[in-house]
Amino acid sequence: MVWVYPDLLSTYGDRGNMLILAKRAQQRGIPVETIEVRSDQPLPTHADIYLIGGGEDGPQALAAQRLNTDGGLHRAVNQGAAVFAVCAGYQLLGTSFFAKGAKCQGLELIDIYSDRGESRAVGELAGEVDPRLGLPRLTGFENHGGRTHLGPTVSPLARVNVGIGNDGQTEGAWRGKILGTYSHGPALARNPAIADLLLRWATGYDTLPPVDDSWHDNLRNERFAAARPNPQ
Ligand code: GLN
Repeated sequence: MVWVYPDLLSTYGDRGNMLILAKRAQQRGIPVETIEVRSDQPLPTHADIYLIGGGEDGPQALAAQRLNTDGGLHRAVNQGAAVFAVCAGYQLLGTSFFAKGAKCQGLELIDIYSDRGESRAVGELAGEVDPRLGLPRLTGFENHGGRTHLGPTVSPLARVNVGIGNDGQTEGAWRGKILGTYSHGPALARNPAIADLLLRWATGYDTLPPVDDSWHDNLRNERFAAARPNPQ
């Protein structure tokens, strides 16, 4: 598994996603190698999972430029790699996004584009996940200025009932083995079922042996109980 550009996209504890994936793989006896690739290094193309974190506008724009120049992520996706992208990392997978007032070229890996909202979306985020993914409710924390619009070839990850996500209605996007979310930073700590989905995508296994998720469940329940639902 590759953690993409921690020098640019790691503002919010994004390392947690790599740690959780590695731990949950080890708990199932799945061998795992974690590679951190800085933005001045070529991106390896042979990994099964690529993690892209959140970041401020400047580093986000630079990361998109370098990933487009490098081309490794595009090659890896064409070879069937899974991608989990958070916030700035999610936005830059699309056709374009805004950073520091300027429109930036995205990676065009999924059919989304992002513009700016009237206010920053900051707070708890929760939603019911696309039933085809078979996952429990998504919960997380969001902090972003962008709003994201989905084209016809991607599906929303969830329907929002707390917070803003893409636009107040939907949150995140997925297509094939690419999944993006506005759920912040170590989103897999709040959503271990997404970690297991990524592991199943990477290994091709239909199911994984269960592990004790009571810590994660307590955190999810506690935060969801404290969240204020959107008006219907
Ligand atoms: N810079 C982007 C925005 O504000 C992404 C922020 C983030 O990664 N939290 O929308």
